[in-house]
Amino acid sequence: MSELRGFYSPGLVALSVLIAILVSSAALDLTNRVTFASALRSILRQDPDVVFVGEIRDLETAEVAVQASLTGHLVLATLHANDAVGAIARFTDLGVDRGKIATTLRGAVAQRLARRVCPHCGQLVVGSTTAEEAPLATPYGVQPVVRAVGCDRCGKTGMGSDDLTNAASTPHLLLVDDDPVARGIARAVLEKNGFRVSQAEDGAAALERLDGSPDFALMVLDVEMPRMTGREVLARVRQSVHTAALPVLVLTGSVADEIEAQLMDEGADAYIRKPLEPARFVARVKAALRRAGS
Ligand SMILES: [Zn+2]
Repeated sequence: MSELRGFYSPGLVALSVLIAILVSSAALDLTNRVTFASALRSILRQDPDVVFVGEIRDLETAEVAVQASLTGHLVLATLHANDAVGAIARFTDLGVDRGKIATTLRGAVAQRLARRVCPHCGQLVVGSTTAEEAPLATPYGVQPVVRAVGCDRCGKTGMGSDDLTNAASTPHLLLVDDDPVARGIARAVLEKNGFRVSQAEDGAAALERLDGSPDFALMVLDVEMPRMTGREVLARVRQSVHTAALPVLVLTGSVADEIEAQLMDEGADAYIRKPLEPARFVARVKAALRRAGS
């Protein structure tokens, strides 16, 4: 939708026939004879400047959209095709006149769903890519962060899995601690309690992980780390629009109350002292998630 903001100007009237109608169009059709195309027609009577059409999937809707476009409306719509150029073939398949396609179609942009690496067998790419991977990665100039492997749960494909939906509903936590032993303990405790855990061994790695994966529900952050301290990480997280609202639970070895007050003041949502007491740790994590509404 961000591209659509480019069309905005004060006084612009935009109306849409969106997904809700798409989902219920069959039912509507039987009861009230309201179709996607008839809804679109009634919207056009209100003479909007811009019309969003959720999906063009029949000739009737396509023709109303074409008509709207011919009469000076900006029509933004989606349709199913294999690629952007395929939009033209799709319109002709639907039965739209080629001349009308030529006069009304201004552009087509392809969007496709990205496959996700299976969460059960995906491996972090540490160091360089293999000889097989390199030719795939180099044309894009990007170093992949995760490698698809294949396991029983994803049918050896390395992609997706039956319980991707479960994975999505399980809170994904980012655990940041430079001490591998402490990190291992915290991870074991969290995983035992049903959380998905990703780890970072220092502040820079944490920021990188947050940047590449927006689905973290909470960050567990050690305060005393070399190079970038937890407080610096916290400040950076709070400054970024993408992570400003991310709940952060800080781990502190300090016993000074004023340090903890200061951390809360700097944007921590909760804190817990090391060494970790598992039950208390999990309770704090759950409380912070609850407050954040996840
Ligand atoms: Zn797998």
